[in-house]
Amino acid sequence: MRDRFSLAVVGAGASGLAAAISAARRGASAVLLERLPRAGRKLLATGGGRCNLLNEALSASAFTSTDPSLVGSVLGRFGPAEIRSLFEGLGLRLQADVSGRVYPVTNQAASVLRVLELETARLKVTIKTGFEVDGIASEAGRFIVRARDGREVEASAVVLAGGGLSYPALGSNGSCLELAAAFGHRVVAPVPSAVPLCVKDRMCHLLQGQRMRVRVEGQIDGRPAGSAEGEFLFTRYGISGTAVLDVSEGLSVALNREGRRDVAVVVDFLPFMTAEEASGEFLRRSAAGWAPGELVTGLLPEKFARVLARGIPAPGRPPVDNKDAQGTRGLAAALKAWKFPVQGTRGWNEAEFTAGGVDASEVRIGTLESRLRPGLYLAGEVLDVQGGRGGFNLGWAWASGFVAGLGG
Ligand SMILES: Cc1cc2nc3c(=O)[nH]c(=O)nc-3n(C[C@H](O)[C@H](O)[C@H](O)COP(=O)(O)OP(=O)(O)OC[C@H]3O[C@@H](n4cnc5c(N)ncnc54)[C@H](O)[C@@H]3O)c2cc1C
Repeated sequence: MRDRFSLAVVGAGASGLAAAISAARRGASAVLLERLPRAGRKLLATGGGRCNLLNEALSASAFTSTDPSLVGSVLGRFGPAEIRSLFEGLGLRLQADVSGRVYPVTNQAASVLRVLELETARLKVTIKTGFEVDGIASEAGRFIVRARDGREVEASAVVLAGGGLSYPALGSNGSCLELAAAFGHRVVAPVPSAVPLCVKDRMCHLLQGQRMRVRVEGQIDGRPAGSAEGEFLFTRYGISGTAVLDVSEGLSVALNREGRRDVAVVVDFLPFMTAEEASGEFLRRSAAGWAPGELVTGLLPEKFARVLARGIPAPGRPPVDNKDAQGTRGLAAALKAWKFPVQGTRGWNEAEFTAGGVDASEVRIGTLESRLRPGLYLAGEVLDVQGGRGGFNLGWAWASGFVAGLGG
């Protein structure tokens, strides 16, 4: 005997919870099917535990996708104002920082999950945990959704909201991409995004753990591929920090999907001064008798200055003991544009987001219903829709989940 529902939602993450709430609010009987022992596990880890649930600048132009018009059609139905009022209506007070990132005033992701859980309980949404969907069949026009352990539910519509592949320990293991492919959907090869980068450079080894504020530019085949300003972190394997994560997507696509090899990150370690100001300052210090190893003291972290003084053998990097104008100009130029050739990216366990997913042109504009199977809807990270860091991806998850739940 199977339980019967109007809508079965595969995945109780951000988009699945939003889909179940919107369906239940219009009177549909909804079931959330979640493979982990509890709903919303990834949500608790977002924003470093604070949950950056939205960005005030959420709009279609902040996303890339196989179908850019899809995002606009969804945000036109459920945009930033609707997302805010959804949460405020659930009792969650919000605050935005200067860059438009929206957080709960509690600064706790747990508050976001709790208000969603209270609403699903109020609306009598059924939640089945430990229910890992591994097959969806059709029977007399209805969907039979099967779990790995043999349990089944029956529904007249299904929302696939199982996310992509990032942080599999938090639930999203790519299985929803396989479920979509079984319906004939094309999957744009998923690659890790918002991910640290692997670099073979002695600097990384010597300076691991060192954090700095920098400006970075991604480069593919010598051409600019995104830039960002923010935190930079030397690690055992290469480079990380928010600035690196912010430019990682295009580089990951180039390396992991397109097989390109000429990929680099160029770092400006002195973003607060021009190259001319830096070389002038070094020349003045040199003329005043500063030791070569001290030329960057007070401008760069001590550890960085000590490593630099020892000399980093690499092509294009000048020795720091050259005291003349040409030498100080060379040092300034190197610190303003330090090139790290990138060998690869870290894996899914360190990628905040999945670039790629189900071809967005295969779902209907405005409703997110599959063009291949009526009654099947897709929402959230499972689709080939990606926004920058800063609340855009959760914004997409709420908006697309809510809209998918209106139809299903
Ligand atoms: C560490 C980290 C921090 C982040 N911080 C932010 C942030 O602050 N702001 C922001 O905008 N974005 C952030 N993101 C990205 C954001 O969390 C995701 O884009 C968003 O959660 C995607 O929502 P989703 O519902 O599509 O998928 P998910 O949140 O991944 O949820 C999918 C759910 O489906 C379940 N599931 C998967 N397959 C099956 C199956 N076969 N059967 C049953 N259940 C299944 C999973 O267990 C999971 O619970 C962060 C991501 C990570 C990893």
